[in-house]
Amino acid sequence: MASTKYIFVTGGVVSSLGKGIISSSIGKLLQARGFKITIQKFDPYINIDPGTLNPYEHGECYVTADGMETDLDLGHYERFTGIRTTRHNTQTTGRIYKAVIDKERSGEYLGHTIQVVPHITDEIKRRIRYLGETAGYDFVITEIGGTIGDIESAPFLEAIRQMKWEMGCDAVCIHLTYVPYIKAADELKTKPTQHSVKELQANGIQPDILILRTEKHLDDHLRAKVAGFCNVDLECVIQSEDLPSIYEVPVNMQKQGLDAAIMRKMGIPVGETPQLGAWNRFLQMRREATETVNIGLVGKYDLQDAYKSISESLSHAATYNNRKIHITFINSERLEEDDAPSWDTLKNQDGLVICPGFGQRGIQGKIMAARYAREHDVPCFGICLGMQMMVIEFARDVLGYADADSTEMNPDTSHNVIDLMEEQKSVTQMGGTMRLGEYPCVIRPGSRAAEAYEGADNIRERHRHRYEFNNAYRKKYESAGMQCVGVNPDADLVEMVEIPQHKWYIGTQFHPEYSSTVLHPHPLFMSFIKASIKE
Ligand code: GLN
Repeated sequence: MASTKYIFVTGGVVSSLGKGIISSSIGKLLQARGFKITIQKFDPYINIDPGTLNPYEHGECYVTADGMETDLDLGHYERFTGIRTTRHNTQTTGRIYKAVIDKERSGEYLGHTIQVVPHITDEIKRRIRYLGETAGYDFVITEIGGTIGDIESAPFLEAIRQMKWEMGCDAVCIHLTYVPYIKAADELKTKPTQHSVKELQANGIQPDILILRTEKHLDDHLRAKVAGFCNVDLECVIQSEDLPSIYEVPVNMQKQGLDAAIMRKMGIPVGETPQLGAWNRFLQMRREATETVNIGLVGKYDLQDAYKSISESLSHAATYNNRKIHITFINSERLEEDDAPSWDTLKNQDGLVICPGFGQRGIQGKIMAARYAREHDVPCFGICLGMQMMVIEFARDVLGYADADSTEMNPDTSHNVIDLMEEQKSVTQMGGTMRLGEYPCVIRPGSRAAEAYEGADNIRERHRHRYEFNNAYRKKYESAGMQCVGVNPDADLVEMVEIPQHKWYIGTQFHPEYSSTVLHPHPLFMSFIKASIKE
């Protein structure tokens, strides 16, 4: 296509409607038509990135290969489409203001009053166009976080209004709203949608396509009503009913012609509807799987979004192993308190994941879970802090260092088996200063890890941590049976440990969960699930 086209995805009525899933589905469907796409998220908060946010506020922090801490929606973009996002795919109000203020200080706007319009809005537009102009995408899909009507989304809406005005049919706005079902009246209500669209119109934006999230099917009469009240073509009123899996959404959107509607709006010949071959085969396998594999996530956040990429990676791997996944969250603080039901739950799992995290809370429970898995030969996967807890547990119980610890938890330990990385010792700023993004790792031939990676000996995985395995103890671990089977070739940092005698006991300093996708499940998760499946 001659020039890049821009698709904006906004949300109305309430949050949590799944704009990220819709944006990812649009990306998937356009890719299936042979287009080169990327997806970008704008978050209207002032933080520079979500790295310093509590997962209770914001869910998981996803990390791109180039080391940006981002919103978890970027994980959906990558899992659905297989694209690799970068720091340009994530923006926040904070980053945009900071860039404008830095430019003001360096004299770039000399003589001018700096204002939201045009300076902030121009910076927003520049960051939307940048993606299209630099990488030659056919489509840039930009998801605007938050809900229409929030004070903080106003500059983004103004930027969209201007881009739509400047670009005509090369820019479309897709608005996702909610149609509530009122049980007492047995009715679906479109009024909130009408109000949300009015709000957009008051900002000068006429949505081109509406996607209505609903728990019940909307009949044609209701769709026609919405179309009429909201100035939208009937074929552009699409419904997104609750489905058993988020991965069914692209297929449902394609059935209703969402991609075709976008193309017609943009004056692109529609042609035949493409087959979603491999995607449909994945869905088919999910539907046909009858047996279940039970995985316990041992962590401190009992919130489903806090470990999103881990659950999705487990789910992909289970599908390709012909199993349904059943994930149970096990609160590590309850394990510390010897809470019997939590221990019973843990003992009933086919495999355990010891989750990543920061700080003291709940780490003792993670260490206890790692010990249980080691002593009872339960497949166990430690990720980042999870690996560090496996290492500490081994030091305390096998090496005999009763006070072994990470200096993150106990700076005065006499056995600092996990310690601050050299490069981190002089860092004082909190945000964006961890070891972040992709680094190489060399895998020891013949190890369980090498087997999982199917013989690949040089891999790249994403990181998000400050502490590392202390090399002073390496020999001791290896002679006692915990092998350091993955090492960063440049910095000699331990990236993977394993106990080869165990059924599956592997810890990774990196986060493999950031790179599992629907069509390319991650090899470590594949091998962990395989080991967890009872014969
Ligand atoms: N808190 C640990 C560190 O900073 C682990 C971080 C993580 O699990 N992402 O090294």
